This record gives sequence, C-alpha cells and structure tokens, in this order.
Amino acid sequence: NWLSFSHGEKILNGSQLYTYTVCNVGEHEQDNWLRTTFIQRRPSASRVFVELQFIVRDCNSFDGSSLTCKETFNLFSSESDADIGTSFRKGQFKKVATIAPDEITSRNELRINTETRVVESLSRKGFYLAFQDIGACMALLSVRVYYKTCPATVKSLAAFPETVAGGGVNQALREVAGACAKNAVSEESPRIYCTMDGEWVVPVGQCQCMPGYEAVNDTCRDCQPGFFKAFVSNDACELCPVNTKQLSSGALLCLCAEDFYRAPDDPTTGPCSGLPSAPRELVATTTQLAAGKLQLSWSPPEDTGGRSDISYSVECRRCEGTACQPCGEKVRLEPASSGLMDTRVEVSELEPHLNYTFTVEAHSGVSLFARHCTVSEIVNISPPPSSDPPKVTSMRLDERSLTSLSLSWAVAPRRPMPQSTRYKLTYPGGSDDNLDVTTYTVLILEKSSVQISDLSPGTAYLFRVQALSPEGSPGGSSIEDEFETLTEVPLSQSNTGVIFGAAVGGAAMLMIVVVVLLIRKRRRRSHTRQGPEDTYFSSSEQLKPLKTYVDPHTYEDPNMAILKFASEIHPSHVTKQKVIGAGEFGEVYRGILKAPGRKEGAVAIKTLKPGYSEKQRQDFLSEASIMGQFSHQNIIRLEGVVTKFKHAMIVTEYMENGALDKYLKDRDGEMPSFQLVGMMHGIAAGMKYLSDMSYVHRDLAARNILVNNNLECKVSDFGLSRVLEDDPEGTYTTSGGKIPIRWTAPEAIAYRKFTSASDVWSFGIVMWEVMAFGERPYWDMSNCEVMKAINEAFRLPAPMDCPSAVYQLMLQCWLQDRSKRPRFPDIVSLLDKLLRSPESLKAIADFDPRVSIRLPSTSGSDGSPFRSVSEWLESIKMSQYSENFTCAGVVTMDQVLQMKNVDIKNIGVRLPGHLKRIAYSILGLKDQTSTLSVFAV
Ligand code: AMP
Repeated sequence: NWLSFSHGEKILNGSQLYTYTVCNVGEHEQDNWLRTTFIQRRPSASRVFVELQFIVRDCNSFDGSSLTCKETFNLFSSESDADIGTSFRKGQFKKVATIAPDEITSRNELRINTETRVVESLSRKGFYLAFQDIGACMALLSVRVYYKTCPATVKSLAAFPETVAGGGVNQALREVAGACAKNAVSEESPRIYCTMDGEWVVPVGQCQCMPGYEAVNDTCRDCQPGFFKAFVSNDACELCPVNTKQLSSGALLCLCAEDFYRAPDDPTTGPCSGLPSAPRELVATTTQLAAGKLQLSWSPPEDTGGRSDISYSVECRRCEGTACQPCGEKVRLEPASSGLMDTRVEVSELEPHLNYTFTVEAHSGVSLFARHCTVSEIVNISPPPSSDPPKVTSMRLDERSLTSLSLSWAVAPRRPMPQSTRYKLTYPGGSDDNLDVTTYTVLILEKSSVQISDLSPGTAYLFRVQALSPEGSPGGSSIEDEFETLTEVPLSQSNTGVIFGAAVGGAAMLMIVVVVLLIRKRRRRSHTRQGPEDTYFSSSEQLKPLKTYVDPHTYEDPNMAILKFASEIHPSHVTKQKVIGAGEFGEVYRGILKAPGRKEGAVAIKTLKPGYSEKQRQDFLSEASIMGQFSHQNIIRLEGVVTKFKHAMIVTEYMENGALDKYLKDRDGEMPSFQLVGMMHGIAAGMKYLSDMSYVHRDLAARNILVNNNLECKVSDFGLSRVLEDDPEGTYTTSGGKIPIRWTAPEAIAYRKFTSASDVWSFGIVMWEVMAFGERPYWDMSNCEVMKAINEAFRLPAPMDCPSAVYQLMLQCWLQDRSKRPRFPDIVSLLDKLLRSPESLKAIADFDPRVSIRLPSTSGSDGSPFRSVSEWLESIKMSQYSENFTCAGVVTMDQVLQMKNVDIKNIGVRLPGHLKRIAYSILGLKDQTSTLSVFAV
C-alpha cells in the first residue's frame, strides 16, 4: 500500500501544519508506506540523524477496534547511487527502528512527539527514508534529516576546517590536520579531533609566532615599533634594550644605536654598550729615567661604557727629530703591551736622546668593532738624562764680512744623535752700539751654524756655544772662540776681546737677565725660524718696515712667549656652552666671554684635555703665541688664554658657520661664483698679511678656514706641531715629517722647502676646493698617485662652472717653478679686480685634458672600456639614472661621450653633486680616448 498515507493540512495550536496521516485502525494486516524523495549525501556524512515529529492516537479511544489498533510505526532506509524515481520495492529497505510515541493523543488533546534516530554507515551517493504503518492512527508532521559537523575553528594559532563529525563504531573521533596561522610555525604539524557530537577535542602540536611577531587574538601581529621578538614563541614582544635603535615594527632584534656595540659573547637580545672613555691621569714616573726605565700608570676610564671587561694597551712610538716609528722590540713593556688588566706598566730599555710617545688605550669587549674610535691618552717622554746633551768640540769661522760672521761648530759623534739638539750661542754687545760689557746677545739655534750680522767692522768677538738638552736646559761643557770681522783699516785692532774676557765670568748670570731684552732686539732684526724668504720676496717689500712674526720656539721658556703675545683671562669670565668640534688637544666649545672692560660676546674655546704632558701643554699654547701676534680681518682673532689654572684654554672669536669645507659641502651648487670668489679674496688677504709677516702657514686648506655669519673667511690653525700631529690629512713622507700631500707644493714634499710660495700652491688648492664646493682634491686618488700625476705635469681640472679667470689663477699657483707663481699681493689684487667687474667671471673654463689629471672611474675595473651605459653608471655609483639615460635614447657609450652638461641636466639629473660626478666621468672618458700629450705647465 504505497503512499496510503494521505496528505493534508491541519491547524494545530494556531499554526498551520502539513501532515501525512494514516488511520486504518479497524482493519487487519495493515502495511502502509510513505517514502521520501532521494536525499543526496555529502560524501563525508556517513552518519545522519533523522528527527521526526508525529502524532499517534490512543488505541483506547477507538471503540472496539483495540484488537488490530497499533501505537507504533517503523522507520526504514535504503541507499542508492541514483534517484530511482517511483520504482519502489520493499525489499530494498532496511529497518532502522520502531518508533513509539512518548505521549499518545487522546480524543481531546493533541500530543506531538519528537524522536531522533541515527542512520549509520552510509556510503552511497544518497538514500531514501521510508515509514511503515502497521495499523496505527498517526500523522507525520515533519522529518528533519541532518548530519553534525565540527565548525571551522582556530585553536592555538592553528586553523582547522569545518569537519563532518565522525560516524560509525570505529570512527568515533575524527582526526583533523590544521595549518598554522600566517607568520606562525610549529615543530609538529597541528592536529585535533572532531567528536561524533561535533565538538573539537585534544589539540596536538602547537603553533607559535615567528620572530618579530606576537600572538594577538589568534593571529600573529608585528612587534610594535620599539619592541622586538628574537625567537619562535608565544611570548609577547619585548621592549628594545638600552642603547639600541628604535626600529620600525616587526623587529627581530634591536640594532645597537650609533656608537654603541655588542661584543661577540653578548646576547643579541641584551643591551648595547658604548666604548670606554679615555684612561685618565696617565702619569710617567721617571725616577729611573737615566737607567732607561720608567713606569706608566693611569686611572680607569671615567665611563666604562657600561661594561666590566676593560683592558688596556700601551703603544710606544720613538721619534728621532720628526721621524717617528713604533718602538717594536726595542723597548720592553712589562707585563705586556696589550691585554693589561692592571692600570700600570713598566717600561725599560729606553734609549737616551730619543723622544718617546706612549699612548694608552682603554678597550672593552666592544672595542674590536669600533677600532676607529678607540680612545687613547698620550704622554710624551724624552728620556735623556738632562745632564747629557752632546758636547760641542770645535768652532770655526766659515765666512766673514765687515759686519757679519758665519760660524759653525761640531759636536762629538754619538749614537743616536738627537736631531732636535739646540744650541745656545752667546756673544757680547748689541748691534751697533759700542761694545757694552753689560749686554750679551743670546741666540737659541736649531742647527750647528749661524750667520751673525749687524756687527761692528774690525772687531773681535768672543763666542761661546753650548748644546742644550732636549728639555732646553744647558748642559755639558761650552766652547769659546774669538773671531773678528773684516776691517777696512787693518790697523784698528780692537781690545774688546780682553774686556769681554773679563766679563765672561759673570756671563752665565747675565744671560738670564738679558734674554728678554735681547729677544726683542732679535725680533726687530727678523731672524725667525723661517728666516727671510729666499729670492721669493721682491726687495721692495723687504724694505717696508714690516712687523715680523716671531717663532715662539726662539724663547727659551715658551711661557714667556705666551705672556708676551696673549692676554690672560680668568676662567670665571669664560662660560662653555656646547661642544662644536674636536681638536688635537681636546674639545672645542662655543661659549661666552664676559670679562671686565670687554664687550660680552660669543667665543670659541679650545681646551686641553686632562692628562696632558708639559710638552703637550706648550704645543697647545703655542698656537695662542702665534695667533696673538696677528691682527687682521681675515685671520682668526685671539681673545686670550687661560694658563694659570689647571685647565688651559685658548679663547678666540667665534665663527658661526664653522669650517669652510663643510660649509661648502652643505651648499653644493647653491652659491654664485661671485660669492665664492669673494670668499677666496678674504682668504688671500689673510694669507698676504701672514706672508708679509714672514709667516709660512704650511697647512692651508679649506678645513682650516673658518666662516662667520657675514660669510667672512678667516685663516686658522696655527699650532707649532699642527702639521705634524693635528691634521688628519698629514702623511709621513720619506723626508720625515707629516705633510698634507694634496695641498702641498712639490718642493715642500720633496725637500721640505716650505715658503710663502708653497703656501700659494696650497691657496690654489683651496680655490679649487671652494669652486668645487668642498670636493676632495684629486678625489679618491691615492697620495702616491697624486704625487706622480703632479710630477708628470698634470693638474686638477677646472671645477664645473668655474670662471675661466679663476681657473687660470689656480694653474698659476700650481706652477712647478715656485719663483714663477704669483705672490699673495698679486693674488689679492687680481681677485679684487675680478670682483669689481663681475663680467669677468662670465667666461667659464673649459676642460683641458692636456693639463688635467686622469679622472677617477674612467674605465671598467679591469681597465677595459665600459661595455654599456649601465655598467658605466654603476661604476660611478649613479645607477639610479639608468632609466633617465635609456628614456632619453642614450644607450651607447659613444652617445654618452657626446653629452654636454646641459644634456645631462635635461635628462633629469638635477642634484649638483650628481651632475658633477657624471660630467666629470664623461670628461675623464674623453680624456682617455684622446691621445694624451703631457705639457709642461
Ligand atoms: P681646530 O682644532 O682648530 O682644527 O678646531 C676643530 C674644529 O672646531 C674646527 O674644525 C671647527 O669646526 C671648530 N672651531 C674651531 N675654532 C672655531 C671658531 N673660532 N669658531 C667656530 N668653530 C671653531
């Protein structure tokens, strides 16, 4: 009886219900069926639930039919791979369950039952359900067929997909593999189990956020700026430790901030530490100096950079004259020269008469990474016992005239011969007065010969010469000899020798008394360290009564020179405000000078760092002794010195715009030629003043010119040891001494012929630096290459947009023959003329390969020509313009060679520095392709 259920609608409790009903209670052998349509099965759903709502009438409510009346019905199912339509056979169905109501419906009251049964082990594409009635009075209200799933979920940073709940006896828990969330990883692949009830249980194999990420709401999020996470974990990101950089988000590590480092053993997650500051209070105990021994001791650095692994190393250099070299094996340092944990070292086997410099460096675990900024302290020691200067053995007359005598003397040969030996020569009388027995002239000389002029004709003079120890104290025996000037009337022999002889006994005392007076006399006569300029100065200038520079070295006591040329300032009148630079001897500060009787104003304050030696103090202050002698608009002005207190200082006028080289680099291409030439004019005026005073600067370079608010340029850097010690450009030469090669004239490099003419050469280099906006002269050529090129008559090419007249002047300054170079007065007047007629600056210098040095990067690294434009651009680090060249159709090197400055600009190279680099490289390429003929310039 298929479909013997009847279909209808019922209103039940106000709701309309669709029902299938059957109610054949009075009849025998009922077998009524109702079948569903084909139910498609999701492949994984092998276990489905069937929820039925139905009503069954109470059999007792039917009179007399209770014998056949039933109160249950049966649920059947049948699997199939396809919808078989209406072809229904009972035999295909398997019984699932007998369904009995919990509550039966009486005549008056409807009772709806809900029963759920499970159909298991389904495997085919779909199935049918069927209901068999065997004589009940019932209505089927609803059939709901469903299966259960565990919903898609994220547990412990692993995502699991929606999963149909397990089915069947052996499949109570279904194992599901998950995937770690983005930026999370796990050692074991994550798994979880889905129960038959659709619940997730027992997750296995946790996912954790990768370095740089932390878990937030089931995802891995970047560490916030200032935080980091170094490892895979579920920990939160940590705050960056001290002395590290605050990086952007997602940091795995916090890199050390500038000037802070981590030692190899330091954890990468830990703080960074700074370098230790300099060891302090370095002292040399010299009680056994005569035996070639001394003890160096120092105090630990004030700032250990936050580390406890501080050690020290001691470097020893020995200098004979100006030639210095490491002491090597020649000096013994005990217990060792490096890796010292203690703050002392015993030095032995020092040789007499050499100058020793000891540098003590403090190291820590991080010093290795910052070799360039390891700090050090220096002490200078000259070990010869002061009683042991060389002995003068004989004196001789080399030449004489009416008013002059040339003398020289010999010293006992001794190894090693200290090159710095000075001599004290004493002779009676002033220049033109009658011999005055109470007055002696004392000369301190650096070599063993002298020419004495302004003497009286036909007069015998008794000369006494004595060698001085390097500390300046006289020692050893002196030698005396008498020599006589020529006489026009041979008869007039003088008797002064006798008179002088009588006075000699008192001379030693008198020498000290008269020294100041006599030095003043000497100044008048202008015998300076540098001496008169060879043939370089025209005689007309020598006739001018010029003030002449006095070398503070000629003073036996350098403190006297300071006293003379610099005014003493009380430290309470000086206020330091801010460090503006670092000099050889200590920091340079900007500050205020507020002294009684002076206008309050900004000043620069040079300081001497603690732990200095007496020699360093004197070298430091010598700059003030020199500067104090100058007074010119274009020379840095000395305000005064602090010498009477522990911390010596040199106070000068303050130059707001700092060093010229840096000033120009910061304004590359931004200043008109007129302004640049104006700056050069100022420098030239300052140099004219110095040369007029017979002062040779030796280290004229843009880095040693200072610029103030009005863009006035002033020459600075006058220390006696400055070229030797102070200038990082200084390079040791074979002739001894340190020389800033790129700025120095060839004759000064070759045989130390430093004159105002060599200063003119340097001025030419400064002009080039100015026109090239602080570019390094000769770029990255080595010193050796520079010297070779100069020797072969090559010269720097004209800077870009350099007025032709200015470049011509540079070339003149670089003439090999120094007597042909212009002099500073000529330079000042030429620059003055150019400034007065700005038209003269309009003609721009051409690049002339005949006089230009080979430019950097003119060919591939192997010397072969560049194969492509991009290879060339890469070699000059300008690859960023590759596209500009391509877009402009410049694709071959031949095309590149045709380009002019304006073409480079037009293809979009706008930055002056880049424009210059590209233009120079092209010029260099052309230079290389043309045949070079070297012209003697
Ligand atoms: P120096 O030891 O003379 O080479 O000075 C070191 C640095 O300190 C210079 O390069 C300048 O930057 C700065 N400096 C020195 N003197 C002055 C000054 N008078 N005015 C402004 N800055 C100065």
